[in-house]
Amino acid sequence: MSDPNPCLDCGLCCVHFRVSFYWGEADDGPEGFVPAGMTEKLGHHLRCMKGTNQTPRRCSALAGQPGERVACTIYENRPTPCREFPSHLEDGMPNPKCDELRAANGLRALFPLAPSLCAA
Ligand code: SF4
Ligand code: SF4
Repeated sequence: MSDPNPCLDCGLCCVHFRVSFYWGEADDGPEGFVPAGMTEKLGHHLRCMKGTNQTPRRCSALAGQPGERVACTIYENRPTPCREFPSHLEDGMPNPKCDELRAANGLRALFPLAPSLCAA
């Protein structure tokens, strides 16, 4: 039986992308929510998650071992790009980028949609 949340043994998007976002999302701004100490400045209007603007890349908020067991330590306060990158079937559709990243790192493909769930 598959893990109901494939992200928990993956985390590859958190070590692959530069996670940049509008600076006001950081919690040292009046309406921010992302822990500012886990971000770094990126130009005048942007910040990124620490660790994602370098190689090797790894978001400072990621706990665990990618490809084995991981967790986002700021899940409730993660920035917009993380919220907008859907995990497999989160929005009812597969995210092909997940399987691309997983294949490149030797992880099994996620389960495809059952035919009955595919749009006609
Ligand atoms: S690459 Fe996809 S499956 Fe892996 S952690 Fe990111 S969203 Fe989840
Ligand atoms: S904030 Fe969380 S979800 Fe976003 S890249 Fe970092 S560990 Fe991953």
